[in-house]
Order: sequence, then C-alpha cells, then structure tokens
Amino acid sequence: MADLLVVGGGVLGTFHAFHALRRGLSVTLIEKDQYPIQATVRNFGQVVPSGMAGRWFDYGWRSLEWYRFLQEHADITVRPGGTVYIASDAEEQQIIHELKGIMDGRGYPALMLTSADCLERWPSLRSSYCREGLYFPDEVSVAPERMIYRVLDYMVETFPRFTYRPLTTAVDCYPSAEGVTVVTNAGERLTAAKAVVCNGGEFKLLFPQLFAASGIVVSKLQMMRTRPMPDVALRGNILTGLTIRRYESFEECPSFAGLSVPEHLRELKEWGIHVLFKQADDHSIIIGDSHEYAGAMEADDLGFSLKTHVNELMLREAERIVSFDVRNLDRVWAGYYPQHKERDIVEEDLSGVIHIRTAIGGKGMTSAAGYAEESIAKLFA
Ligand SMILES: Cc1cc2nc3c(=O)[nH]c(=O)nc-3n(C[C@H](O)[C@H](O)[C@H](O)COP(=O)(O)OP(=O)(O)OC[C@H]3O[C@@H](n4cnc5c(N)ncnc54)[C@H](O)[C@@H]3O)c2cc1C
Repeated sequence: MADLLVVGGGVLGTFHAFHALRRGLSVTLIEKDQYPIQATVRNFGQVVPSGMAGRWFDYGWRSLEWYRFLQEHADITVRPGGTVYIASDAEEQQIIHELKGIMDGRGYPALMLTSADCLERWPSLRSSYCREGLYFPDEVSVAPERMIYRVLDYMVETFPRFTYRPLTTAVDCYPSAEGVTVVTNAGERLTAAKAVVCNGGEFKLLFPQLFAASGIVVSKLQMMRTRPMPDVALRGNILTGLTIRRYESFEECPSFAGLSVPEHLRELKEWGIHVLFKQADDHSIIIGDSHEYAGAMEADDLGFSLKTHVNELMLREAERIVSFDVRNLDRVWAGYYPQHKERDIVEEDLSGVIHIRTAIGGKGMTSAAGYAEESIAKLFA
C-alpha cells in the first residue's frame, strides 16, 4: 500500500507525485496511456509567470525554481531566454508599461525594451509591428514533447519509493478501510492512504456525474510547427499584442478594461487567437494558438479536425509580426485542456481521502510545479 496514489501522468499529476516523494512518502502514479500524450506534451512549453494573475503568478515564480532545480539534476529540457511581450500599438504599449510597474512592485525582474532593442535581439521581428517590448529575463521554456518523460525518468531513478505504471487506467476510486482503493482496467485493486486525481480532460472514467455538473469547459487549441530554421534566431518565449489583450496578468492593469478592439483583430479575437512563437532546440518554431470551447461532457463536439481558416488567420497575423517564412510548416495539431468558467482550478476533496485536482486551464506548464507543492503540503500537513 502506498502513502499516495496519483491518477494521471500529466504535469499536474507528475508534480504532485514529485513533491510527495520529496517529503519521503511512497507514491504510485498510474497513467492510462502508453505515455502522457495530452495537453502536457501538446503545448508551447512556455514557462511564463508574467502572464499569470494572483496566486498563479506566485506558483509560476516558485515553479521557475523547481524547473532550475530539476535541470541541475537531469536535463529536463529547461532553456533560458526569457519572455518578451511585443506591443504593436499605443494601447498595448500603455498596458505593458502598467504591467512593468506592477512587476517592479513585486520585485520580479522586468525590462522595457525599445523597438530598436527588440529588433536587435530578435532580428526577424518586423519594425512595422514592433513598437516596444516588455521583457522578463528570468523566464524559461521547456520542450513539451520531452520534458514530462524526463521528469518521470528522473523520479524513477531518484526515488526508490516511487512506482510509475503507464498503460494503467483507473476505472473506479472509492474510500476504503485502507484509505482509498483504486480499481484499474486490469481489475487490480490498488490501495493508498490518499489519492490525488489529476485526470486532465478525461471525464468519462472517474466521477462522471461530478464532472457533468462541475461547470468545466474544454478548450481546443490549434497549433503549428515549422521545419527547422537554423537561420532564424528567436530565443525565448515571444508573445505579441493579442496576448497582451488576453493574458490574465494584463487584466490587473488599470487600462485593460478600456482596451478597444481594432477592426483587423476582430475575427482573430472571435476565434480566441493570440499569436505566440517558441523556437525549439532543433530550430523549428512552434506557432499558435486559437481557442474553441465545449462543455466537459460535450468535448467530443470539438472534433478531431483542424480548421484551415483558423490556421490561415494565425499565419496572416504571424506574417504581420515576423519576416521568416511562417508557412514553411512541418506539423499541425490540436491540443485540448479543461478550465472552469468561474474557478481558477477545480479542487474536490471527497471523504477526506480522494482529492481531485484538474482544470488548471492554460497555466499548467507555468504553475503546476509550484501549485502541486502547496497542494501536497496541505494534504500531508
Ligand atoms: C496547445 C496548448 C498550448 C499550451 N501552452 C502552454 C504554455 O505554453 N504554457 C503553459 O503554462 N501552459 C500551456 N498549456 C496548458 C498546459 O499544457 C496544461 O495546463 C497542462 O498540461 C495540464 O496538465 P494536466 O496534468 O492537468 O493534464 P493532462 O496533460 O491532460 O494530463 C492528464 C493525464 O491524466 C491521464 N488520465 C486521465 N484519466 C485517467 C485515468 N482514469 N487513469 C489513468 N490516467 C488517467 C491522461 O491520460 C493524461 O496523461 C497549453 C495547453 C495546450 C493544449
């Protein structure tokens, strides 16, 4: 019997397991797939506390420390390079100045960059787009298609009290004399003192009635990746005007509420598009993203296909921002994540032994390590 059984090997489940192991607990983590293949591996890998509001900023800041710690012990693909938000008009400039003031107040390193500074650091930005930048030098990125597997490998190698079981699906989970019993798809009964359920957007296997009534919605994001472009230098996380108009940290800025929507951005905003870039180690560039929504139990309605019109809108906006060939594409895909209409994460504690932690939204790669640390500290106080 384990002290903790974690359901789900995405970033949220993995970091819950990691922090429990650090406390000396015995942990079993089960993952239904051959390896995690959901939101945790389909994203940009941008670790951007600067985009987060409230406690999620603090979790993100703390997560940076955990990413550095893990990188020192194993190459989990953490790369420095910072984050820049490029303002393309006067309204966006006003907002980034206001966020700079907020971040200065928190002692979080931030620099204003002139258009010339930005063009010198990122020569493929177009001068016609780039009016000014707000740069966060301490932020990092990870390679999403590798990071979680490296962290899991590190945990297997480092913690003798860790058992990782891929291809193991939890089909039932209930309080029992031992604490909690989890029944797997193979009919095994696993017991633990507590269970943390980090099921991501999977709502049909465990507690379907709870999730049906939960107010969770699922977001579908369209993503693209170019072929390797060794001649393009695009270090760090590159976020642009539409992100300034979207991310939660900017909502804390006094001028945010009064932002207008210029005509050329109207259709982009209807599809929830904001254009971000992240250059990978092989010099390919990840470009995205868009957002479509459906209820937790209607997520299948979001479909498996990608809308070429939505990709075209993103590519046209990307062409306004950068001068390299954004149409030199190698891959396109969809990622899905759950979020809640009113809550910043869904936390359900059943019978004091089953702890559901899901619907972290678009914040997981940035904040999960710090959030899970606090979550585990509360569960094992
Ligand atoms: C396209 C895209 C871009 C993004 N970009 C960023 C970014 O740049 N920065 C950032 O901070 N965040 C980003 N995010 C958000 C981030 O990826 C998510 O917040 C995070 O990955 C969610 O992690 P999770 O562990 O909750 O869910 P998941 O990654 O979905 O993991 C849940 C896991 O649980 C397993 N599971 C579910 N049910 C069971 C069961 N019954 N038994 C066993 N296993 C089960 C699943 O197989 C899955 O592996 C992005 C998301 C997407 C989709």
